[in-house]
Amino acid sequence: MNGLMMDYPLTTNTILEYGNSVYHHKKIITYLPNGARHEYSFGDMYKRCKKLANALTQKFGITKGDMVGTFAWNHGPHVELYYGISGIGAVCHTINIRLSSGQIEYIINNSEDKVIFIDATLVPLLEKIAPLLETVEHYVLINAAADFKTTLPNTIHYEELIADQPEYFEWPELNENDACAMCYTSGTTGLPKGVLYSHRSTYLHATALMAPNAANISNKDTILLIVPQFHVMAWGFPYVCLLSGSTMVMPSSNLNPEAIINMLQVEKITKANGVPTIWMGVYHELKKNPPKEKLALKEYLVGGSAVPKSLMEGFDKDFGIIGGQAWGMTETSPLGTVSRLQSKHEELSDAEKLTIRAKQGVAIPGVEIRIVNDDGTLAPHDGKTMGELQVKGAWVISAYFKTKNQDTFTADGWFRTGDVSTIDEDGFMEIKDRTKDLIKSGGEWISSVALESALMAHPKIKEAAVIAIPDEKWMEKPLASIVLMDKEDGVSDEELIELLSKDFVKYQIPKDYVFINEVPKTSVGKFDKKEIRRLFSEGKLS
Ligand code: AMP
Repeated sequence: MNGLMMDYPLTTNTILEYGNSVYHHKKIITYLPNGARHEYSFGDMYKRCKKLANALTQKFGITKGDMVGTFAWNHGPHVELYYGISGIGAVCHTINIRLSSGQIEYIINNSEDKVIFIDATLVPLLEKIAPLLETVEHYVLINAAADFKTTLPNTIHYEELIADQPEYFEWPELNENDACAMCYTSGTTGLPKGVLYSHRSTYLHATALMAPNAANISNKDTILLIVPQFHVMAWGFPYVCLLSGSTMVMPSSNLNPEAIINMLQVEKITKANGVPTIWMGVYHELKKNPPKEKLALKEYLVGGSAVPKSLMEGFDKDFGIIGGQAWGMTETSPLGTVSRLQSKHEELSDAEKLTIRAKQGVAIPGVEIRIVNDDGTLAPHDGKTMGELQVKGAWVISAYFKTKNQDTFTADGWFRTGDVSTIDEDGFMEIKDRTKDLIKSGGEWISSVALESALMAHPKIKEAAVIAIPDEKWMEKPLASIVLMDKEDGVSDEELIELLSKDFVKYQIPKDYVFINEVPKTSVGKFDKKEIRRLFSEGKLS
């Protein structure tokens, strides 16, 4: 028997309409690439989304299912694009500006974008490849001066595009399972693959993300969206902010630690999201130049790669700011698990609490996780046995865009993450490595993530990335590449071996250390192990 409840489609339009009707007075503040501060209300933004919807349909003839690309920083107009494009049933394809031009060309041709909205400062990146882009009919320039010159064909300024459009637009009826947005994976292994989000998955993900056990966002928050809008839709925060009525602060290209700290202070940010590299930069800058007034920041939300325990401990102790760790992937919208202390942990010591928070945490409602042994059997939840992490849920990918080879899905419908993890008795998952980054020495697995976290706890070490190198006797052995806080400040191999001896057994401890200026990073700021392995094999790291 069916229930007798309304069939109310969960779409991004319902998010926008809600944000406008309940929180039209709330603000979106943008720090523009030139440093200028711009602010307007959700209500103003709403009207511009409608103008944009009119322009897309009337001027460009965009219809349901068409792909519309964005090549832009985080700012107000980019939020308008999220809602305006999806609202008419087209797909908002956010293109990662940090990929190589070959990958960008591939992605745009593969997605068949008809229009690309592009920030003036990013235009040179597309000018080079524009002749190779087969489907793009128009380029819309955002934040460009009136006399801006470009070789891109068929350009129009964003403000000119929407200027004479009516503020009235009736959203078409959409099915909640229609596609609303697309991001490509970062393509660190092979070609990037498209992940096509639906209206329903986006809506449900946003409500789950907002909950107290997840990101804990309310209308009392002012949120700094550091995670780029081109990386998994800024982790869904542009949707969460409208549903929760929290003030949005958008940094555009102002992403260095000093600029972030300035925004934290001036805007009294209460929560912010970012990858560990960003928070490490902010932490070291705060240590160097401690703020005169206590920051309003209550919690920074961190994920995307392993969070060194020492970073969480440092923020806790030195500034009283909690790090909320989350795990997820482009394929999981991204939120999968969150690490938060529960009522049963209240009596634990600070060190025990930190150990729990440093795990990637429990699945949030709407997502299920399991770990699977090499032989396909389920691994026990004992906090020790490592297995491949598999996931399913209401905002987890079921197939890649235009991709036939779907071997990342199991026969019983789970998504294979490629992460290796443990799960403890309480359901707390802990990432040990990527399948491809694990080190197998003498038949035993060594977690590069655990070694990196321990090395980065050393006060003189800024970054540490551990990879496997060939070894005649053990097949593989770990090698640690290290970036020092201060190059003059030497650290001996013996000192590092002694540090690691506290937590690791002998065979797990690297005997090889190379000191480098910077760890190569991926397009989204993660350690690029593939590149480190390549540089190392060419002998460039030593
Ligand atoms: P992406 O799709 O680019 O966001 O990358 C997803 C991958 O990032 C995951 O499969 C993990 O390997 C890694 N990752 C994400 N969050 C975390 C985390 N909190 N700790 C460790 N690794 C993470």
